[in-house]
Amino acid sequence: MIKIATKEPKVKGDSWPLYQRLFTYTKPYRHFMLLCLIGFIIMASMEVVMAKMMEYFVDGLTTRDKQLIVFIPVAVVVARIIHGVGTFCGNYFISRVGLGVVNDMRKALFAHLVALPCSFYDARNSGELVSLVIYNIAQVTGSVTQAVKIVLRDGFTVIGLLAYMFYLEWKLTLVFLIMAPMLAGLVSIASRYFRRVSRSMQVTMGDISHVTNEALQGYKLVKSYNGQRYECERFNKASNENTRLSTKYERVSALQGPIYHTVIAINLALILFLILLFWQDSPGAALSYITAAAMIAKPIRQLSSVNEVIQKGLAASESIFTVLDMEKEQSTSSEQKTLDVSQGQIDFHQVSFSYGEKRALNNFTLSIQPGQTVALVGQSGSGKSTLISLLLRFYEPQSGHITIDGQPINAVTLQSLRAQVAFVNQQTTLFNDTITANVVYGSAAEIDAQSLHHAADNANAIDFIEAQELKFDTLIGEAGDRLSGGQRQRLAIARALYKDAPILVLDEATSALDNESEQLIQEALETLQQGRTTIVVAHRLSTIEKADVIVAMQDGNIVETGSHQSLLAQQGYYASLHAKQFEG
Ligand code: ADP
Ligand code: MG
Repeated sequence: MIKIATKEPKVKGDSWPLYQRLFTYTKPYRHFMLLCLIGFIIMASMEVVMAKMMEYFVDGLTTRDKQLIVFIPVAVVVARIIHGVGTFCGNYFISRVGLGVVNDMRKALFAHLVALPCSFYDARNSGELVSLVIYNIAQVTGSVTQAVKIVLRDGFTVIGLLAYMFYLEWKLTLVFLIMAPMLAGLVSIASRYFRRVSRSMQVTMGDISHVTNEALQGYKLVKSYNGQRYECERFNKASNENTRLSTKYERVSALQGPIYHTVIAINLALILFLILLFWQDSPGAALSYITAAAMIAKPIRQLSSVNEVIQKGLAASESIFTVLDMEKEQSTSSEQKTLDVSQGQIDFHQVSFSYGEKRALNNFTLSIQPGQTVALVGQSGSGKSTLISLLLRFYEPQSGHITIDGQPINAVTLQSLRAQVAFVNQQTTLFNDTITANVVYGSAAEIDAQSLHHAADNANAIDFIEAQELKFDTLIGEAGDRLSGGQRQRLAIARALYKDAPILVLDEATSALDNESEQLIQEALETLQQGRTTIVVAHRLSTIEKADVIVAMQDGNIVETGSHQSLLAQQGYYASLHAKQFEG
């Protein structure tokens, strides 16, 4: 189970609010809940009828009454059929509730996940979040469904059978009830043990999938370093540990039934003994009583385990609610305006930003004129990507502010800000969809075939797109392997071109390329920059040299600004960076 919460994960005193919150998800399905309730009431009353049949049976046996002889077999079948209908309604409609809750919760969680700020993703690995959507949601609904089923089905059955037993012989039933706490205690000891072992089993299961993932994803590395033995050893260790714990689990699980039934048998033996000594009523009633007492054992056992089921669900739901309670991006209420870009002037005013303790930008001030291309250079870690993240409001600066055409970006809606900025970075993210869908990604309007073609053409991507069998309808998921890094990058550029935003941000968009692709991409980027204010983080000299302004950064500070020629002439930091690059 995945714990998103850092606080104490056990659900204890504060289960009630969690429980209530969970139940709000069942509200839209109240009518199914009602049908389920009716179903289980019908089922439970038929259990009592079955016990009563025993009495008629013995009476029939002694009197050989013709009517009874016909009535009993017919009644048994009819009662069983009604019982079946009730069971069906109960089980089916509670599942409908469960499926509805899974669907609603899963959708709410996903919508919330994609709306959370970047800092949320920074702190977690994606596997953890995937399990939250897949595993925890299933756990929650599984246990809600299971718990409701137990409470209603077994609850009504126990109530019905007990009432019948009290009605037949209340003193004997009191004696019988003395045993109940003992049974409940046994079940609870066993379930505590199960919970402990199954928690460790989950950990080893996690290890197994973790090792498998790593080995299969990095298969080329494993082979080239002859790592098969190492991987097998790691895997075997996790697998053996899982088997060891599973064996423990199964041993107790197999023991549980016999022990429980021995206790039941002792209890029944006591009842039999007392009946044999003191029973006044008919023998039929005695048999009927014993039948009811035997039938009640199973639902009592189920009821004693209901707490465990509920706790499991609550623990899983806690992590989900923790995420659902996290604040989404864009929280200030004043930002209802939309950003209006006419020129494309960008100003950073004394912007400072730290990731936790670490200062990444220090009083950064820079004015970028409309249509200019500004190149950011500096060693890795100097704060270039951070600057871009702040412009896109992936993070909020701790002090200072950023304006676009004079409008502070934190006073406009996130959506309007991001609509005005086209972003291409080093990791070209392509989705498992057609080339068209990848290029027009995020554009709400209808697909404009002409713009699409134009964008692909200007991105120098048209040739290889046309070479695909299905052209623009080619699925990237399948073609992805056949596309080179440069081709993927050109698709990313086509995406930015299609977006046609007045501000362009390129973060190391060319750094992972081979020389052949570079020429094509360089051309595409130059087309892309025309008429747009551009911030480019680059390693390639050609890109840098053509920039209107070069900003050399070090440790979150600007050390130099100027044109390529003037900075070289200064013989300063840029000149030394430049010299280093030539050597390398
Ligand atoms: P550059 O793009 O110039 O290589 P970055 O802006 O990525 O530099 O990083 C600036 C500093 O901030 C570095 O010291 C880096 O380690 C740190 N940093 C970057 N991203 C994060 C993050 N998500 N969490 C914590 N620290 C970060
Ligand atoms: Mg960077």
